[in-house]
Amino acid sequence: MQFNPMGSGVLKKLLGGLLLLPLMALAQPQVAASIKPVHSLVSGVMQGVGEPLLLVSGGASPHDYSLKPSEARAINQAHVVFWIGPELESFLLRPLDNAKNQVRAVALLDAPGMKLLPLREGGAWEPHSHGRDGHDRGQAADGDDDHGRARVADRDAHVWLDPVNAMAMVHQIVAVLGEVDAAHRADYQRNGAALIERLDQLNRQLATELAPVREQPYLVFHDAYHYFEQRYDLNAIGSVVVSAERRPGAKRVMEIQARIRDLQARCVFSEPQFQPALVETIIAGGPVRRGVLDPLGAELPPGPDAYFQLLQGLATSLRVCLSGA
Ligand SMILES: [Zn+2]
Repeated sequence: MQFNPMGSGVLKKLLGGLLLLPLMALAQPQVAASIKPVHSLVSGVMQGVGEPLLLVSGGASPHDYSLKPSEARAINQAHVVFWIGPELESFLLRPLDNAKNQVRAVALLDAPGMKLLPLREGGAWEPHSHGRDGHDRGQAADGDDDHGRARVADRDAHVWLDPVNAMAMVHQIVAVLGEVDAAHRADYQRNGAALIERLDQLNRQLATELAPVREQPYLVFHDAYHYFEQRYDLNAIGSVVVSAERRPGAKRVMEIQARIRDLQARCVFSEPQFQPALVETIIAGGPVRRGVLDPLGAELPPGPDAYFQLLQGLATSLRVCLSGA
């Protein structure tokens, strides 16, 4: 069945009143995705069937995001919302909870087969509180204890930065869309298989490309890359900020500078989601180079290729800066 954009408003209104209608009768499921890398994988699975809506676009960070009213409405009209989970997009906790009777929320952090890493503490890595504060605020406000605070605080949510985890995410996206929209199940399965093949190729290529710079020490802006470092056996020695929401003080800046000297870091990486002035201050007068790593793909056009461009971009930035090329 062909989706007709002119009729979508009417269709949604009709569906609002007819939620008990079997979902397999839909022309196209209304699907939303939280951040660009998730949106990209969902777009790839939905190719030829429809396009998901992206919630956090551009250079925004999911850590301190707040939904626009139009986005809140889009969530209420969606059949499925794919997100990482409360550890990352705490701004989605309440809207998804409010819409839980009509919207299927799929936290990909819980997808079968995901390799999860704990948040890092001690040594170079301080405990990093993404979404943790936001989540606690959410819990205090609505008294919902379903998520188990200890579990939420312990998992590193940046799972998409490992292509092997992306494969597990794709499997889950295919399974959920196939249930919600059985009429297109074969399309989702075919697209998913092609996507997994492509992710496998990407993974091999990045391993080859990063092998020569594996030993080179560097600092990242915030601790978003644990999964990427583990997958490619890289030598990151710390992060500039302790929390994605808080700016470090003068004492911390001096500690970082000492660490850069002691461990002879080659590069410090800033991120487009945060102010680079801090990184300039840290490296001022020293031999260390500055690079940029973007865990979300701020500048990338959304769509099936964005995920691949994002990971390739990380590898290229690391290789160029660390090899001194
Ligand atoms: Zn982060």
